Amino acid sequence: MAKLILKNLYKRYENKKGKKGAAQNPYAVNNLNLECEDGEFIGILGPSGCGKTTTLRMIAGLEDITDGEIIIGDTVVNKIQPQDRGIGLAFEDYALYPPLSVYENIAFNMRARKVNDEVIKEEIDRIAPLLKIDDLLQMKPGKLSGGQKQRVNMARAIVRKPKLLLLDEPMSHLDGKMRQVLRTEIKRLHNEIQCTTIIVTHDQMEAMSLVDKIAIMKDGELQQYGTPFEVYDNPVNEFVAGFIGEPPMNIMTVEVQKKEDSFLFKLQDADILIPAPERYYPVLREGMQARLGVRPSDVMIGGTGSKGSDVKISVFENLGDEKKISFRVGEGFLTLITTDEKRYRQGDIVKLEVKSEKTHLFDVNTGEKIL
Ligand code: ADP
Ligand code: MG
Repeated sequence: MAKLILKNLYKRYENKKGKKGAAQNPYAVNNLNLECEDGEFIGILGPSGCGKTTTLRMIAGLEDITDGEIIIGDTVVNKIQPQDRGIGLAFEDYALYPPLSVYENIAFNMRARKVNDEVIKEEIDRIAPLLKIDDLLQMKPGKLSGGQKQRVNMARAIVRKPKLLLLDEPMSHLDGKMRQVLRTEIKRLHNEIQCTTIIVTHDQMEAMSLVDKIAIMKDGELQQYGTPFEVYDNPVNEFVAGFIGEPPMNIMTVEVQKKEDSFLFKLQDADILIPAPERYYPVLREGMQARLGVRPSDVMIGGTGSKGSDVKISVFENLGDEKKISFRVGEGFLTLITTDEKRYRQGDIVKLEVKSEKTHLFDVNTGEKIL
């Protein structure tokens, strides 16, 4: 168990892979600062190529760092060999050795470190029931299902009580149901071993349900670091707002209109007006453009007497308990999620209402949150 600190961490690959012609940020990881408390469970989230795996590989010592410091416990580990960092790893492509039994696969790193047989057996006997693989120990990896392999992988990571556990998309090869099972197991395991853990995932439900804090990255840079509630309720910029939440937040360009003593937002490309909440008034002025964000669950269809704008339903989707309704706005859609029992149909004209207190206002140029 240990605290982890990443201080001004940079990684620049000399021959960075990437899409040709795309505007390239030369840094795979760009001035990353992150502190994880002892025993905390941290999730790193972000689009493919944003630097998640590179970050974990640097922490593990499998990748040289270009600049910065990595501190585990009280020790700067920059110059410490991977095997001496006290880290357990379960990486997506960290294959098991086919000729060895599950037992020998788990024992492998301990044997390499000359741990004696008795201790190895004690360790495996302790770990195997936690991951429910006690019955598999004599089998060869080839005979295991995907989920079993991933659990063996996890067992290999946590033997000998690592100070730090790093999981890179540990459930990426599993189907929905097995993912949920293993997700619960990872949570239970973390409660039991209380080891500082970092999980990389592209599945935000997974992150939201497992972790104490989420770090959201984009183009090698940390965008926001906070509890799942903080990043969901208070995204610091348009990127985080659009990235966290399913279906994603509606984010639209609006123009501010003044009407007597109040302000309204007029959507670009649509005759939709949304009253601005009073707390925005100090920063609003007539004609100003901004980006307005609202979650689909904070948009409603108004009843009789509603002052909302008239809009036509473009798409109606029945998702079981919830219905998803989309309205065309310029090139895109504004969507809402409702549990309303009423049967709406495509083409219906309805009143659109927005819980304006729940909106987020972003700078039209920088995407940074204004309010
Ligand atoms: P993620 O895990 O978030 O998908 P990665 O850390 O794998 O992202 O990659 C970050 C960036 O670094 C990407 O642009 C990727 O193409 C590049 N990259 C990753 N590994 C290498 C490598 N070994 N050599 C060159 N470029 C790499
Ligand atoms: Mg990756």
